[in-house]
Amino acid sequence: MEYNLEPDYARARELMVETQLEPRGIVDSRVLDAMRKVPRHEFVPEYLRHKAYDDMALPIGDGQTISQPYMVAAMTELLELAGDERVLEVGTGSGYQAAVLAELAKEVYTIELYPDLSERATRVLRGIGYEKIHFSVGDGSRGLPEAAPFQAIIVTAGSPAVPAPLVEQLDEGGRIVIPVGERFSQRLLKGTKRREVLHEELGIYCVFVPLTGEFGWKT
Ligand code: SAM
Repeated sequence: MEYNLEPDYARARELMVETQLEPRGIVDSRVLDAMRKVPRHEFVPEYLRHKAYDDMALPIGDGQTISQPYMVAAMTELLELAGDERVLEVGTGSGYQAAVLAELAKEVYTIELYPDLSERATRVLRGIGYEKIHFSVGDGSRGLPEAAPFQAIIVTAGSPAVPAPLVEQLDEGGRIVIPVGERFSQRLLKGTKRREVLHEELGIYCVFVPLTGEFGWKT
C-alpha cells in the first residue's frame, strides 16, 4: 500500500480563505481567488512549510517576515486592481505578495533592500512560472523612477510617513497602500492621487518591520 504524504495545500488554502479572510470582511472575489491559487508554502523556509497557511506572519531570514495572509489580502483589496495596472511593491521579502499582485495586475515591479532575499524570491517566482514580475535591489523608499508612473503602489514595511517620491511616481487616479505610524505599531493608510494631491484614509492597525532608507526610518 502506498501513502501520499504530501499535505493537501489546496485544501489548506481554501480553509485559509474560509476561516481567516472571508470572516474578516475580504469580499473582492478576484483577491480571494488569487489567495486560493498562490502556493504560499513555496515562499516560506522549508522548516516552516507546515505553518504556511496559518493565521500569522513567519520569519524568512535577515530578520524579515512574510506577512500574515489576512494582511496580504486586505492590502491587496485596498489597491482595487482591475487587471491593467503597473504596480510597484516596496519590500519584496519572500516574493509572496508579488505573486498575488501578478495574479491581479498587468505588470509588477518589486524592489528589495536585501540582495539575498531578492535573489531567493526571483528563483521561487520564476520556478513556479511567474514571468511578469520585475525585480530590483535597492532603497525602495525612493521608489523606482525609471519604471514610473504606477497605477498602484504597495509598501510592505512600516514607515513614519508616506515617502514623497512614491507620491510623485503614482499616476493620476492611482492608489498607494502603506503602513504608517510608529516603529512598532502602524495603521494602514490608503492614498488616492487626484489632481496631484494625495487623499488619505486611515484603516486597520498593524505591525510591520520598518521601512528603512532615505525616506523611511533611519537606522
Ligand atoms: N512583501 C513581502 C512578502 O510577501 O514576503 C513581505 C515583506 S517584509 C514584511 C518587509 C520587507 O521590506 C523586508 O524584506 C525588508 O527587507 C524590506 N525593506 C525594508 N526597507 C526597505 C527599503 N527601503 N527598500 C526596499 N525594501 C525594504
